[in-house]
Amino acid sequence: MIVFGWKVRFKTLGGGSFQCPVCNAPRTYDHVEARNWFTIFFIPLIPLKRKGEYVRCQTCQVTLDPVVLQNRGIEQASFAPPAGSLAPGSPLPPPSAP
Ligand SMILES: [Zn+2]
Repeated sequence: MIVFGWKVRFKTLGGGSFQCPVCNAPRTYDHVEARNWFTIFFIPLIPLKRKGEYVRCQTCQVTLDPVVLQNRGIEQASFAPPAGSLAPGSPLPPPSAP
């Protein structure tokens, strides 16, 4: 008799530092992927559907959507000065009469 099934395995894709919204401080994180695996005799053999990925704070262990990393980039970009200080379509000054 063959014992088969599936289980979820977690794989660390990377890590770095981010602003943790729970600690409210700069922390290090793990970028983790969760995926279903087909198992035979409890040994994972075939990777199946990816269940998703998340970011885990190494300090408070909270799991967050990876969007939190993208939000950090948007915040940094918002500090850049706006391109072009003149409003488009502004009327030209009237020509001076001779
Ligand atoms: Zn945290």
